[in-house]
Amino acid sequence: MDHQRSYRGRLAPSPTGYLHLGHARTFWIAHQRTRAAQGTLVFRNEDLDYQRCKPEFVNAMYADLRWLGLDWNEGPDVGGPFAPYSQSQRRNIYLQCWRQLRDGQFIYPCSCSRKDQERALQAPHEDDDDEMPYPGTCHNRISSAKDWESPAGTSWRFHVPDNQTITFDDLFFGRQTFTAGRDFSDFLVWRRDDIPAYQLAVVADDAAMQVTEVVRGADLLKSTARQLLLFRALGHLPPQYFHCPLMRDENHVRLAKRNDAFSLRTLRAQGAKPEELQRQFAAEMTYTTKTLSHGDTAKTNI
Ligand code: GLU
Repeated sequence: MDHQRSYRGRLAPSPTGYLHLGHARTFWIAHQRTRAAQGTLVFRNEDLDYQRCKPEFVNAMYADLRWLGLDWNEGPDVGGPFAPYSQSQRRNIYLQCWRQLRDGQFIYPCSCSRKDQERALQAPHEDDDDEMPYPGTCHNRISSAKDWESPAGTSWRFHVPDNQTITFDDLFFGRQTFTAGRDFSDFLVWRRDDIPAYQLAVVADDAAMQVTEVVRGADLLKSTARQLLLFRALGHLPPQYFHCPLMRDENHVRLAKRNDAFSLRTLRAQGAKPEELQRQFAAEMTYTTKTLSHGDTAKTNI
């Protein structure tokens, strides 16, 4: 039975810069939750964005997280039964999912040239979500049989069921409800340059790696709604989700990789100690949970 699956968590950073304090806290929570459940922690290197990902950032991710005191049971550097653990080496798995979505008529080719094409390789981390609403221009466009043979040559969008409500119980924020077609529109699953988009790759991998719980930042709450549609279309049971509150700087701006002041590298060079950071994370989460549960939204502590 699926609800008896043993816990499998994951750390899924993208090597597009140095990890910052916000990543550290999210990954520390993911680690804590896995260890508390005596589960398995998977490290997945999300390196599909070939223009922005760099090997030096991959090495820095391992080093910085190990410095913080984290370890993982499976990953590119330690191996495991679901290898390879770098997305750039998992194209076949994504292609298989693309075929399945095509055969089930969940996706359609899109020839519109838009800015979201460029963005689709990255997880949408902006506070107001990434997406430019897509009006569905290509949905009813006549396409040739040849267009459907392979994803190459055009981009592909998932056709969302307009007005359908998508609900899930987040393990931190409680019940979340989004409406397809209103909160988000037909999103990209494959880019014109023949690379799977973030939404498809992450679902294909969470399913293939049998992840039972996803711990990540609250900026991906809306992406979870999209991903639940993909899980359903692919016929997989989705994992559970625990979204962590975002960490902000003194001006209330969400921490980002471009902000070096909060990178683990910099903090470490300035003498920060992993135990102190861990204590700080634990205190913050307890505080946040208390604040939230006051308003009755948070459901669990870490
Ligand atoms: N790799 C993504 C990022 O670091 C996060 C993916 C996820 O947790 O779903 O931005």
